Amino acid sequence: MRSRLAEARKALGDRHVKLVSVEIGQNPAAAVYVRNQQRAAAEVGIEMEVQNLPLGSGQPDLLRSIDDLNRRDEVAGIIVQRPLPPGIDPRVVQSAIDPHKDVEGMHPANMGAILYREPMLPPCTAAAAQLLIQSTGLDLRGAETVVVGHSEIIGKPIAILLLHHLSTVTVCHIGTRKLVDHTRRADILVVAVGKAGLVHGDMIRPGACVIDVGINQGPDGRIVGDVDFASTVDVAGFLTPVPGGVGPVTVAMLLRNTLRAAGAAV
Ligand code: NAP
Repeated sequence: MRSRLAEARKALGDRHVKLVSVEIGQNPAAAVYVRNQQRAAAEVGIEMEVQNLPLGSGQPDLLRSIDDLNRRDEVAGIIVQRPLPPGIDPRVVQSAIDPHKDVEGMHPANMGAILYREPMLPPCTAAAAQLLIQSTGLDLRGAETVVVGHSEIIGKPIAILLLHHLSTVTVCHIGTRKLVDHTRRADILVVAVGKAGLVHGDMIRPGACVIDVGINQGPDGRIVGDVDFASTVDVAGFLTPVPGGVGPVTVAMLLRNTLRAAGAAV
């Protein structure tokens, strides 16, 4: 995918394509994401600028910085790294980004557009889950799809994107009575909760396509998903690993959105 994106970048010629990441202070968790994004951007030929506002900066400072980036022509895309310090409303911040530069696909205009069709700038993780499912060649039409987790940025948009393909979508959440009754009948199972080991191999239909979105710190410090890999890998037909599955594809979607925002047909 990155080589395809690099081709699309080349096709834009001399045009400046800059992605700017804004962060308050320097969060160690965000630093890993930023490094991954920088490496992937460089590989595709997208220039990435990282702005670290001084610790103690507030919402007005962040909004001023976004306003400046909205006005700069060479800036194709803007990312705001999370977690944001207390007292800053992520919705206000995301809404301040020009929707045409909202490469995370989280501006209310881009989120709302999802109800009508797949938007030009979809939320990256949801788009990554969709692309991974499509890459298996499975027919989404009529497939029993179960999405576990209903957050605004992941669970809900995934459910709607898959619904556009006429998949029969069930969304499970904290109010779901018996999760296993749903997961066991899924042809396609997407788990996006943030709880290590929530889903085990005995909760999976043999041959199912399992997309593990979760990122958790395991007891020994290793990064693990929401799906117990060892008990699931021989039951599932397809299973995304953590790390190395949805994460890198999400970064690729961020770069795809940046190129789209710069006018590339990709
Ligand atoms: P979130 O906002 O905390 O949402 C978690 C969702 O899971 C909520 O809808 C919650 O329901 C639901 N939930 C909680 N416990 C549950 C249970 N026992 N059974 C069923 N559903 C349950 O988290 P998020 O932002 O969506 O992120 C989810 C995970 O994806 C996290 O691990 C995060 O680190 C990871 N993530 C991965 C990527 C990537 O690129 N791979 C990107 C972003 C995030 P209620 O709201 O009803 O409690």
